[in-house]
Order: sequence, then C-alpha cells, then structure tokens
Amino acid sequence: MERVIMIKYGELSTKKGNINFFIGTLYKNIKEKLKNYNVNIYKDISRMYIEFDDQDLEKILERINNIFGLHEYVVAYKIETDIEKIKSTVLEIVKKEPFKTFKVETKRSDKKFPISSLEFSKEIGGLILKNIDNIKVDVHNPDLLLHIEIRNTNTYIYINHYEGLGGYPNGTLGKGMLMLSGGIDSPVAGYLSLKRGIILEAVYFEAIPHTSMEARNKVINLTKKLAKYTNKIKLHIIPFTEIQESIYKNIDSEYCITIMRRMMYRIMEDLVKLRKAQIIINGESIGQVASQTLTSMQVINNVTNYPVIRPVACLDKLEIIDIAKKIDTYDISILPYEDCCTIFVPKHPVINPDLSKCIEYEKTFNYEEMIHKAIKRRIIMDITEEDINKFSDLL
Ligand code: ATP
Ligand code: MG
Repeated sequence: MERVIMIKYGELSTKKGNINFFIGTLYKNIKEKLKNYNVNIYKDISRMYIEFDDQDLEKILERINNIFGLHEYVVAYKIETDIEKIKSTVLEIVKKEPFKTFKVETKRSDKKFPISSLEFSKEIGGLILKNIDNIKVDVHNPDLLLHIEIRNTNTYIYINHYEGLGGYPNGTLGKGMLMLSGGIDSPVAGYLSLKRGIILEAVYFEAIPHTSMEARNKVINLTKKLAKYTNKIKLHIIPFTEIQESIYKNIDSEYCITIMRRMMYRIMEDLVKLRKAQIIINGESIGQVASQTLTSMQVINNVTNYPVIRPVACLDKLEIIDIAKKIDTYDISILPYEDCCTIFVPKHPVINPDLSKCIEYEKTFNYEEMIHKAIKRRIIMDITEEDINKFSDLL
C-alpha cells in the first residue's frame, strides 16, 4: 500500500492574502531539506503531500521535524476514492493494530462522494465491528482513531498524527543579524527568531590572542546546530582585538563593558545595512548582568536606530537552559573557553551608565576607523548543518 506524508497548514491558513507566499516558502524549504531523498512533493490549497521511498521514512520525518511553519502532519495510506477499495484498505490497516475501542472520523472534501461523512463513518464502524472480535466503539476516548479523508481522486486513511515545530516558514519575514557569542542565551535567541520565519546571519566578535580558536569553534558548532532549522547560516567573524584593547587602555574600567557593547552595536548596525537585513537580534536578558539593566540597555541601544530584538529578554535563565537543551546547544555552550566579553570583565561594571559620559569617553580614541577596518577584515563562513561548505577570508 502506498503511503504519503500529508501536511496540514494549520495556522498558516489564517494568513489570508499572503497564504500562497507562506505555503510556497514552506514548500521550497521542505524541498531543500529533502533534496537528498527520492521524494515527490506537491500541494493544493489545503494540504501538502510528500511521496517517499519506504526505507527513508524515518530519516525524512527526522528532517521535517526541524522545519518551521509545519504545524501538523500525518503518515497516510493513499488510495483511489472508491468505496470498496476504502473498505478493504481500512480492514487491512486495523487488523494490524492492537486496540479494544475505536472511532472512525470521515472528512469528505469531495462532495461528489455519494455518502455523507457521518453516515460513512457509521458504515465503516459497522464493517470493523463485524470483522474484528471483542472491540467496541468509544466516541470520547478511543484507543484507535481512524481518519478517512475523502478528497477528489484520492482518499487518505491514517491513524497517527504528529505535531510539527510550528512557527512561520523560514524566509517569510525578512532577515536579522544575530549577535552569537559562545554562551547559552544567544543560540536560544537565534532559534526563537528562526521560529518566527526570520533568515539569520550570525556575527561573532573575537579578540585573538585573548580568545582562542576553541572559542571560535564553539561558535561555529553552535551555528551548525542552528542551521538545522534553516538551509545555511552565514557567520561573520569580526576581529575585535584592536577595539577592545583601545577601550581598556583609554576608558575607566567601570565603563569598559558599556562602551564595548556600544561598539558591538555600531558594527551590527553597519552589518545590517551591508547585508540588507532589517533587525539586530541578541541574547540579552533583562537583569542578567550589569550591561542588561534597563538603563544599560537604553544607553547601549542609543547608537542604533534599528530594532534590536531580544527573544529571551523576559525568560528566566532556567527557561533559557530548557530550550538550549532541547535544541542541543547547551552542551556546546557550557564548554569553558573564554569569550571576549568574559576576559576583560571589570570588578565593578557600571549598572546605571550615563550617556554623556559614554560619549565623552568615546572621543578619546578613533573608533570609527577601527570599526571600518574590523568589518573589512571579517571572516565569512557559510555553515550548514552537515559541514562547512565554503570558507572565504575577505582580507
Ligand atoms: P550568552 O548571553 O549567549 O549566554 P554571554 O552571557 O556570554 O552569552 P552576555 O555578556 O550576556 O553574553 O551578552 C549578551 C548578548 O550579547 C549575548 O547573548 C550575545 O547576543 C551578545 N554577545 C556577547 N558577546 C558576544 C560576542 N563575543 N560575539 C557576538 N555576540 C556577543
Ligand atoms: Mg547572557
């Protein structure tokens, strides 16, 4: 018997005027994710279907479980819409299943089919009762719920039912630049923004020789984990040493972190423009550290007019860790390699920084030229979940 994966659009069907764009993007994303498999994917206004080779089913399900915009799917037996054929298939399916109680639910989208949904469910229920001993109907809490969907030429019969990741299809809501450190929060922020349909490019600030290649590898591996939910992620590695050293040479230690983050935001703003993105995304969480008080956020945010989206801003650390474990980034994030934020941490970073003081401090060194140079000298890598495809050094 032929089986297909049948995808229900769920929430996407509420996208009225944009529905074709959302579903078209989902279709493209599924096609890309399954490009190494022998599949045939097609869609109509209410369903998408994937025909597959039986031996690939598990692998394919694993892959589509990482696709955003997919809310609900089933693995269904596909047969032609013919009453006798439906009956014999139903018997073949239910005979393989252990159950004591059952219910049949028919959905008839082909109104040419001569029997109403309710009557057909009753007829099939009677057929099952006649052919299998010691079972009964339970309409409230059945062991086995048999679905029959009668569509134009084909009918789909299924008993299982899976929930997808939800969210919006990747690529339906523009592009964001993610500040990706090796920590726990920023990969989670990346995952949550991918869920909203945003395409990501990641940006990592490194301060070699104060930070190591292991720290860089950590970020590369975190990017790979995120790439599972999209096609590929461009990672920009920004040489931040000169800026950071200048800050620590010229500025009072309590303001170093504030100024450093203002420099990061300035670079992010330039990259947003350069890469034609719309927003900056990061893993800031309100109150977590001195630079994440509301006053700090305001003073740091002051250098850019682009929206800064902070998906984990209002989550507790434990809630963030739960997501990090679920998306398999936690174990990488807790590896001990130093990040550029942790190596120069002053004893008493300012909690309520003063904007005019920041501006005064920043006059003491020529940061604009340094920012320009750092962006020009960045390393860019295209990262996919499997491997690093391309490596280009823009020096
Ligand atoms: P995380 O917040 O990811 O756990 P962290 O706690 O070390 O890492 P914070 O000092 O809390 O980082 O910084 C807040 C956010 O700023 C990070 O979530 C990340 O988005 C960004 N950020 C910090 N350091 C870097 C860096 N070296 N490169 C890129 N982004 C960074
Ligand atoms: Mg943090």
